[in-house]
Amino acid sequence: KAKASGKGQFCFFDEKLAAKEADRRVLQADLRDALERNELQLFYQPEIDLATGRVRAAEALLRWMHPEHGLVAPDRFIPIAEETGLIVPIGNWAIETACREAASWPDDVMVAVNLSAAQVGKVDLVSIVQNALADAGIAPSRLEIEVTESLFLTADPALLRDLEHLDAMGVRLALDDFGTGYSSLSYLQRLPFKRIKIDRSFVAGITEDPRAMAITKAVIDLAAALGIETTAEGVETSAQRRLLAEHGCTHAQGFLFGKPRPRIELPAAGEGANVVAGPWAAQRDNAS
Ligand code: C2E
Ligand code: MG
Ligand code: MG
Ligand code: MG
Repeated sequence: KAKASGKGQFCFFDEKLAAKEADRRVLQADLRDALERNELQLFYQPEIDLATGRVRAAEALLRWMHPEHGLVAPDRFIPIAEETGLIVPIGNWAIETACREAASWPDDVMVAVNLSAAQVGKVDLVSIVQNALADAGIAPSRLEIEVTESLFLTADPALLRDLEHLDAMGVRLALDDFGTGYSSLSYLQRLPFKRIKIDRSFVAGITEDPRAMAITKAVIDLAAALGIETTAEGVETSAQRRLLAEHGCTHAQGFLFGKPRPRIELPAAGEGANVVAGPWAAQRDNAS
């Protein structure tokens, strides 16, 4: 990269960058075996209905428990998985695992799985999802597939067809990290998304920055006009929560409600109401 950008740029290729590249190579070699060694895991983070406080869904977020480096975040290994094609088996595993684990949750809690552009066209996505739902025995309407605007940069014709097919099956499509990409509005028109997730970079500013609030409000109104749900990402304070609810945002996700955890925390049926604090516990109590 440094070479390609010309001789004048050489000074930027410092030790830090070299260390980062070495780190990347080590992770790349190890990632090949991570699935077989059971080092990958899904964490789950709740999405709350702002009107009722109940859990609407839980997003599955990949984690890699590396034997030496400890817990590796997805931002570090998913780009490697995408470059090497390993995202295909890893992505399939994530869909299957998320559906299987969601089968033990209350029926009114959906599971959301992130889809990478690199998965599309390489596998029969529709069959993977169909088999995962059938094996788990859950309704298609309990699965939400999250795609980002960047997915559409690939311009793979198979992509729109696959996503339309999933919608026809009853699987819900969500547009993730909304506002950070390029062709968002045109894809909102073309695909039947059921949810827009407002990127954390907007939500983070709503209490201090009138511009961030104005953009967030416009997205909420856009979703309302389309008759679909909005999840505000990265909600960390009750002031943000209040403001979002006031402006008609339907759902929220963020550390305020819960960080991603290895499993959703529901007390077993019959256990006391105070075994586990937080929204999951409240929901099971109401449901049973
Ligand atoms: P994302 O889909 O936008 O997921 C939300 C990210 O925001 C998660 O980061 C979550 O931990 C983080 N987050 C949630 N609430 C808060 C908050 O209140 N404050 C802050 N600061 N952060 C919050 P995570 O788990 O590190 O995942 C990063 C990204 O990696 C995801 O962004 C998604 O694009 C990707 N990813 C994760 N799992 C998968 C997967 O199974 N497949 C694919 N293709 N991508 C995945
Ligand atoms: Mg997501
Ligand atoms: Mg997101
Ligand atoms: Mg994100």
